[in-house]
Amino acid sequence: MGIKSKLTMAILTKIGVPRIQKLLEHQRSVSQLPNVIHPTENAPTRFEIQLEMLKLMKERNDIEMQSSFPIRRMLSIMKNINLSVDSIAENPIGPAANASIDFLNTLREFAQVHGVGPLEFVKLPRDLIFQHMGVIYDNAIILAMEMSQEKIDMAPSQETMNMVFETYDTLGIAANKIAKFLRENGFGAQADHPLGGLVLFPPLAQRAGIGWVGKHGLLITPEFGPRVRLAAVYTSIQNLSFADSNEHDWIDDYCTNCRICIEQCPAQAILKEVIVHDTGRISRVDQNSCFEYFAQFYGCSVCIKVCPFSQGGDTYEQLKAATEKTH
Ligand code: SF4
Ligand code: SF4
Repeated sequence: MGIKSKLTMAILTKIGVPRIQKLLEHQRSVSQLPNVIHPTENAPTRFEIQLEMLKLMKERNDIEMQSSFPIRRMLSIMKNINLSVDSIAENPIGPAANASIDFLNTLREFAQVHGVGPLEFVKLPRDLIFQHMGVIYDNAIILAMEMSQEKIDMAPSQETMNMVFETYDTLGIAANKIAKFLRENGFGAQADHPLGGLVLFPPLAQRAGIGWVGKHGLLITPEFGPRVRLAAVYTSIQNLSFADSNEHDWIDDYCTNCRICIEQCPAQAILKEVIVHDTGRISRVDQNSCFEYFAQFYGCSVCIKVCPFSQGGDTYEQLKAATEKTH
């Protein structure tokens, strides 16, 4: 192991690990609050990426970490995850349940000013909440934020990794601001940070109608393809309108013929055929193979780069028209 990797390991072990573990306990403490919504027995277990990265580095001396970890961003992310838990105590007692159309429009504008879009509403199913986590409302506002195309095109690179962390941080800050805005208007809210989320975001965002989950397991949106990060805010607002169908389901057909991400994944981690588990959950990626490459090479992101939908602009409409022609 090189000097850079050894130094990163030393910092993570001495300072980072205890802080990450404390943060995880803090997040889990929400599940002890009264009237919390818990996951079902079949719900997924969260992959603790920071701790797993350290474990991998410790176990595998031959692994050389190329990237320099954006520690300042990570500290800001941890601060905002803590805030998302602490600020639950600031919810109004007897929060409002009905929001006017005007207020919901204002909420969308507020989110947009903070770089969020698209934004949609969905009922949160318990089987998408991670084990040991809890949420205080099952009405969810799903937030997406675009990642820079220029930086994704450089993947895998330090520039890409820095941009990804920046997007995580900016979206996490926006989620906390949206929760605060809801509270100031009499509603209860709980922000869910995009890094270390309490729920499985891609299938939840698909249910919300924001896009469709592609072969690479990422949400493909019409606006930016998979070049987005996802977060949520859970709210006491009851009269949200939920999508009852998903107009993006044609992407399944497109993926069947495309398969570019499967061919170009440097770790061959994207499954040729998806695995549908008894619980109904779908596995699209071999997590271990992906993670080993991801940990060494700047968080990878090659599957985002090569996905045709990442081009944005009118790509979505063009690919949709081409897919319809073949049917
Ligand atoms: S992040 Fe990289 S290694 Fe992981 S699935 Fe995507 S392309 Fe493959
Ligand atoms: S690269 Fe192709 S197969 Fe993979 S998710 Fe994107 S469209 Fe689907």
